[in-house]
Order: sequence, then structure tokens, then C-alpha cells
Amino acid sequence: MNVKGEMLYEGKAKQVFLTENPEEVIVRFKDDATAFNAQKRGSFDKKGEMNNAITTLIFEYLKEKGVETHFIKQLDAREQLVRKVSIIPLEMVVRNYTAGSMAQRLGVEEGIKSPITIFDICYKKDELGDPLINDYHAIFLGAATREELDQMYALTARINDLLIELFERMNIILVDFKIELGKTSDGKIILADEISPDTCRLWDKDTMKKLDKDRFRRDLGEVTEAYVEIYERLQTALAK
Ligand code: UDP
Repeated sequence: MNVKGEMLYEGKAKQVFLTENPEEVIVRFKDDATAFNAQKRGSFDKKGEMNNAITTLIFEYLKEKGVETHFIKQLDAREQLVRKVSIIPLEMVVRNYTAGSMAQRLGVEEGIKSPITIFDICYKKDELGDPLINDYHAIFLGAATREELDQMYALTARINDLLIELFERMNIILVDFKIELGKTSDGKIILADEISPDTCRLWDKDTMKKLDKDRFRRDLGEVTEAYVEIYERLQTALAK
């Protein structure tokens, strides 16, 4: 039994609860959505369930490919049991195509395929709106050492390769995404948090239809439908 204890943390889209085992916590996915540093808020029926199910499938796929993650098992529609890690306060962003803040910052169109994989790191600090930083800043802040950053980039690149391949099978372009890494009690860096349409930009290859959180950010409608579509295509791709 995994008895849910006290709430340890509540974020914008998830809650984390203690369990009887100090090495494990329960993550609960909410239907809430926020964007633009929480200035825009919404809630979408089924979003929490879909992100729980999608993250479960993706983390199981990555595990099969040798990527260590915090995921232990799905508990119910909204909850999963995970290893407790200390989250490294850096968002690892990968871009295969231009979009979002990078397109804006550089004054380029969205949807340009990059000849190289682009990595950004952002400092996880709500009060500052998670600013874009570089390796020197991360080391200065004590968020990671040079050696840890090297390891983090290598892990992120490997995850990108595996995800590109998976989404390709779903006829989807993986435009960009964000992951968070955590340190286990014995100092190992592993994948944590979630991988879902909340944290990725996913475009249908034929129609270029956006099947991710941009539907909420940009008021495009059919938010839940897009998340369900990703879940269904994932199921099909992984069943093969
Ligand atoms: N992203 C995220 N959480 C954040 C910021 C970005 O999951 O707090 C994801 C976002 O969904 C996209 C990628 O990281 O897939 C790159 O986002 P970008 O820097 O372009 O910022 P955005 O346009 O999302 O503000």
C-alpha cells in the first residue's frame, strides 16, 4: 500500500505528497494550466489524467531504452508513485525547430528546422519568471558543477534522440521540450518531473496542427482534445 501522507509541495500543474517510505513520493496531476508566468490561468477537464497517462507511457519507454527516471508506477488516473529526488533548479530546454521564446528573442519565424540541436537552460525561480541563463550562471548559482552540467546535457541529448524517434512513429514533429532532472540520495542525476503536451511542442507532421499547450497559451481551442490525441497516438505507437 502506498498511503498518501502530507502534501509536500503544490505547483501550478501538480501536487506532491509524502508516503510512508521516505524515498518515495506521490505526484498528483491537476487539470489546472498556467502560462506566461502564471498570468494566464485555465483548467481543462481530463488534462491531469492525460498528462499522468502520457508521462507514464513516455517514462516507461525511456526506461526500456536505458534512461533512468524517477518513475516507479502509475497508481490511478491522476497519480503516480515516484522516487524522491532533489530537483536541480535548472530547466533543460531542447529545440529541434524554432518556436516560442527563442523565435521571439531572435526575431525569427517559428518552425525553422535547426541544423544543430539547441540547448537552453533556465533558472527555476518563479519570482524571476524562470530566466534564461548560461552554464557560467548555473555554476555561479551553485545549481550544478561543470561536470554535472556535462552529464545533464548528455542525458538531455539522449532523451531528445529517443523522443524524436518515438514522436516520428506518431507522425508528430517534436519541436521543442523542457525536462527537469533530479539527484537521488546517492548523488545520481536522473530524469524527473513530467514529459507531456504541457512541456513539449508537438506538431502534426501533415497538417502542422499544434497538439500541445500552445492551444491554451494562444487560445486555439480544443485543448483537451489535443492531449487525448497525443495519448491515443502514443498508445498505438507503443503497442507496435
Ligand atoms: N516549457 C515548459 N515550462 C516552462 C517553459 C517552457 O515546459 O516553464 C517548454 C515549452 O512547453 C516548450 C519549451 O519548453 O515546449 C520551450 O519553451 P519556450 O522557451 O519557447 O517558452 P514558452 O514559449 O513556452 O514560454
